[in-house]
Amino acid sequence: MHEAAITNALIEQVRTALPPDARLLRCVVQVGQLEHLDSEVMQTIWQASIAGTDLDGAGLDVEPVPLRVRCGSCGLDFTPSDRAIMLCPACGSVKPRILAGTGVILRSLEVEGV
Ligand SMILES: [Zn+2]
Repeated sequence: MHEAAITNALIEQVRTALPPDARLLRCVVQVGQLEHLDSEVMQTIWQASIAGTDLDGAGLDVEPVPLRVRCGSCGLDFTPSDRAIMLCPACGSVKPRILAGTGVILRSLEVEGV
């Protein structure tokens, strides 16, 4: 479980991005399916970590980003049924290039008082 490290890094990133006099209402992040992060665990850690700080009360929205890959042989875009294998359904080769579904991306901050 690496939700704690990811969520704490996210909180640092939010603090850096937040204007000085703004109060954070809500933070939206996109989490790639390949990250294997549990959004409920992230929200629990988020609430626990910001309790009693200047971010106290802010919500965290986690938007899952499904895995999409492009076949390196025939160019087909597809969603692998098994993310450990990533076999192309059209030509059967295994040369996936990942298009989406990785990383944790800070998408937006909803603030008041700017
Ligand atoms: Zn292919």
